[in-house]
Amino acid sequence: MASDTLSPCRDQKSDPAELRQLIIGLRHYLEEERTLGLEGWPRASSPARAESLSGPATGRSPSPSSLEAVRSELGDCHRCKLHPYRTQIVFGIGNPQAKLVFIGEAPGRDEDLQGEPFVGQAGQLLNKIIQAIQLRREEVYIANIIKCRPPENRNPEPDEIAACEPFLIKQLQAIHPKLICALGTFAAQTLLKTEEKISSLRGNFHECQGILLMPTYHPAFLLRNPGRKRDVWEDMKKIKREYDRL
Ligand code: URA
Repeated sequence: MASDTLSPCRDQKSDPAELRQLIIGLRHYLEEERTLGLEGWPRASSPARAESLSGPATGRSPSPSSLEAVRSELGDCHRCKLHPYRTQIVFGIGNPQAKLVFIGEAPGRDEDLQGEPFVGQAGQLLNKIIQAIQLRREEVYIANIIKCRPPENRNPEPDEIAACEPFLIKQLQAIHPKLICALGTFAAQTLLKTEEKISSLRGNFHECQGILLMPTYHPAFLLRNPGRKRDVWEDMKKIKREYDRL
C-alpha cells in the first residue's frame, strides 16, 4: 500500500478527508493485490471506477465518447459569456490514451492564439516538469478547466466553469487515465470541489471521477516562486511512482 497517501487513523471519529485518503489507499492496495492475481479478489475492474467513469452500474452503462466525439459535441461553443473574447477554443492536446493527464486553469494569450494548452512560458516549464519524470509531452494529455481565454486573464467565473466542466469530464471518460495532476489552486479546488488551499492539498493523492489526483503548484506560480520547485518535484516523484506501477 502507498503509505504516503495515508494518514494514520487517530480515533473512531476520523474526519472526512482522512476517510477519503483511507478509502483511496485501500482501493489502491486491493488493485495491487488483484494485479498480482492473489486468490480471493475478483479480477474484474473495480465497480466504483466503472461507475464513476461510465455512469451508474446499471448493466447497460453507455460507453464513453471518443475525444473526437466530445470535440464535435462542443462545436463552436457559445454556452458561456467567454466566446466573444476568444480567438479559438483550446480543447486539449496529447495522447488520447494517456495514463497521466495534466489539468490547468484556462488558456492564456499564447494558448488562445495557438489553440493549444500550455504553450507559453508556463508551458515551457510544464514541459521540463514532464521531462523530469522521463515522459514526453506527447505521451500525456494536457487540458484546462475551461477552454476559452477569460478577458485580461481573469479567474474563470462559476457559470463559465459550469458550462465547460462537463466537457472536461467527458474528455477524462474518453481518455480513461490512471492519474491526474491538477496544476494550481484553481484546478485543484474545482476538480476536488473544495476550498482548501493548494499548500495543504498538494503532496497527497486525492480522488476525482474515480481517478487518483495529485494537486501541485501551477508552473506560472513556480516562475514567480522558484523556491517551490522542490515541492513540485516531490509531488512529481509520487506521480511517477504510481505511473510506473500501472
Ligand atoms: N495556464 C493555464 O492554466 N493553462 C494554460 O493552458 C496556460 C497557462
